Amino acid sequence: MSSRFQPLHAGITRIDVEYTRPGFAAAWLLRHGDRAVFIETGPLPSVPILLEALDRQGLAREAVEGVIVTHVHLDHAGAAGELLRHLPGARLYLHAQGVKHLVDPSRLVEGARVVYGPEQFLATLGGATPVDPARVHTPGDGETLDLGGRTLTFIDTPGHSLNHFCILDSLSNGLFTGDAFGLSYREFDGGSRPLIIPATTPTQFDVTQMRATVARLARLKPDWLYLTHFGPLPFDPLLATDLDAQLAGYQRLADGYPEKPDVAGLTDALAGLTRDHWQAIGVPRPFDPRELAMDLDLNAQGLAIWRERELRRLAG
Ligand SMILES: [Zn+2]
Repeated sequence: MSSRFQPLHAGITRIDVEYTRPGFAAAWLLRHGDRAVFIETGPLPSVPILLEALDRQGLAREAVEGVIVTHVHLDHAGAAGELLRHLPGARLYLHAQGVKHLVDPSRLVEGARVVYGPEQFLATLGGATPVDPARVHTPGDGETLDLGGRTLTFIDTPGHSLNHFCILDSLSNGLFTGDAFGLSYREFDGGSRPLIIPATTPTQFDVTQMRATVARLARLKPDWLYLTHFGPLPFDPLLATDLDAQLAGYQRLADGYPEKPDVAGLTDALAGLTRDHWQAIGVPRPFDPRELAMDLDLNAQGLAIWRERELRRLAG
């Protein structure tokens, strides 16, 4: 059984926020001496879990200096507004392009209802509390946050969305990747390397940007990848190769549609592409697309929207 609070190394705790199921979405607590930051918050219902993580570490709520979210999708940032109310000393670190979405989350909430369907939205994401803009800081590319001599560097990483950054931690030489470096679930381990698939969620996914971002992150040669869904993973350059090859396949599939792709057909095609990769690396269980149904559906939706945007651009 996976534990909800998994101590790793370098003062990092992986918190399983149990969004939709255990082992699917993480938030991270970084402790350095008596100071701490959260990276990712999970969706709104995660707040009590995040506070429990502090209590278990014997950390006062005042010890938290920062809450960092890689981007504003609600499974990463939905709890930010509510969490800040409990953390009087914390700033929220957020990409500049994401601020308006968390200060007034109504559009984000509406968009998520459409993407996930109203029932699943209510059962899992739950909503979002507005963030106080006075507490937001928007780091630029390469900007750093000092946590008692430990440096966290923000890296602008468009592709999954326009408001996405990753964070490089100097102490672990680990990269908190959000959704920029794909999705990888531990139940599919055991092949020649971990199964990793891109996260091409609506509505700002851009295949060219994502391929450039994956290459840029690989060039940093981190030791660890802390994927929100669902690290940690030791870095292996082959993972970047795998993502790039799949993204090239996604692009070819989308290019085959002379108009906006139908999502059901595209979902099946993406499942086929995933199955090929699954078999190539020898995941030691039969491929069942239902086990990746939510990700494949989101990926197809995001890819379809990207293709539609491309077609509009090409039409001038
Ligand atoms: Zn996500």
